[in-house]
Amino acid sequence: MKRNVLIIGAGGVAQVVAHKCAQNNAVLGDIHIASRTLSKCHRIIDSIHAKGSMQVDGVLQAHALDATDVEATKFIIRATRSQIVINVGSPFVNMSVLQACIETGAAYMDTAIHEDPRKVCETPPWYANYEWKRREACAKAGITAVLGIGFDPGVVNAYARYAIDHHFDTVDSIDIIDINAGSHGRYFATNFDPETNFREFTSTVWSWENGVWKANQMFEHRKEWDMPVTGKGVTYLTGHDELHSMSANLGVPNIRFWMGFGDHYINVFTVLKNLGLLSEQPVRTARGQEVVPLEVVKAVLPDPASLAPDYTGKTCIGDLVRGTLNGRPHEVLVYNVCDHAESYHEVGSQAISYTAGVPPVAAALLIADGTWDVARMVNVEELDPAPLIARMNTMGLVTRIKYGGIDQVLEPYVAPAKSFATDDVLEDLKYG
Ligand code: NDP
Repeated sequence: MKRNVLIIGAGGVAQVVAHKCAQNNAVLGDIHIASRTLSKCHRIIDSIHAKGSMQVDGVLQAHALDATDVEATKFIIRATRSQIVINVGSPFVNMSVLQACIETGAAYMDTAIHEDPRKVCETPPWYANYEWKRREACAKAGITAVLGIGFDPGVVNAYARYAIDHHFDTVDSIDIIDINAGSHGRYFATNFDPETNFREFTSTVWSWENGVWKANQMFEHRKEWDMPVTGKGVTYLTGHDELHSMSANLGVPNIRFWMGFGDHYINVFTVLKNLGLLSEQPVRTARGQEVVPLEVVKAVLPDPASLAPDYTGKTCIGDLVRGTLNGRPHEVLVYNVCDHAESYHEVGSQAISYTAGVPPVAAALLIADGTWDVARMVNVEELDPAPLIARMNTMGLVTRIKYGGIDQVLEPYVAPAKSFATDDVLEDLKYG
């Protein structure tokens, strides 16, 4: 049994994580939010109190932290007696936070792959460049580290595992489809951190084709899908984190990621990119000042969290899995639909943040009760997906499954959780 959660970061996703932790604090215990800008942590706490999200009275505190500082992060983990760390800061802090967890014994989670600020789109598989190098250290320290447990990456990895295990004899392809049919009403904005968002699209698009990596260009491959609820939507083949673990763990020859983009987004993106304004490499101005163009663009764009109050419409994200069953071609879509306005009403964030923020809290509950407390580093598809899907069904993210004329809520069988003593829950924290 693990208790007490430290949330790192105070952006749109952290807002959801904090609200969902608060809604489950009878199980999760104390909740701490630590980020670079203290006032943003306080704003989240104020919104939790304003919405009455705390399940029971308990500790809810804000802390200033530079999460690239391993010693400072270790200090906060120990001072707050946190046994679970949910890292939803920028992807640049993953390795330092993971290291702090390894050294303090806390379980680790993130929702995006680690990135070096000065490098874009490294050699595939991306996880091998950073996270997987600490696998042995995690196993040796008995640390549970669940990598990429947002929606995509995260839930889509679990959907793939579920479909493969329960619906097919053989699987030939997995197409992950991410459609945002919502509208924020601004001239131009990104739905999460602009720096992270643009870095996904400025370089080679890697896809997994016939069991090898294939290099593509951004916006080279276009495909229209007819998704439940959101309807027809145009997507483009995009490079994405989950391909870099699913390709290694699932034995499926073709795995692709498709993201929906409107023409307006593509036009603005293309202009910014062609002008060099999306570059991660520093330039020097005439006055001798060194600036990173991408950081300047981020500074002038709307804060993604500020889009939430006016956002309308829905997202639909799912896995279209194709293969064979009983010797015949078979196709299954496992998916979720999320509503921007409903998300805002519940937790003060839009659906992109909501779909990314609920899964790590569901996973925290599974680590807390031991179900997913595996004492090693894993990507989501290596874990039993059933308890995650079942938990999320009760937490605002309902999974549906569609095949052969059936379209229904997916209610997987969940094996009973192990039982744990609850009174000495903090005894095994390594405070040394
Ligand atoms: P935001 O930019 O809104 O928030 C990031 C937060 O991290 C900010 O509060 C920022 O602080 C903080 N931060 C950055 N650097 C540091 C540091 N060195 N020390 C402490 N705090 C730091 O991003 P989002 O909330 O939209 O996204 C959070 C994460 O979730 C990202 O990694 C993103 O890629 C991922 N994500 C995953 C999705 C999924 O489905 N898997 C979907 C959407 C997002 P400050 O406020 O000072 O800038």
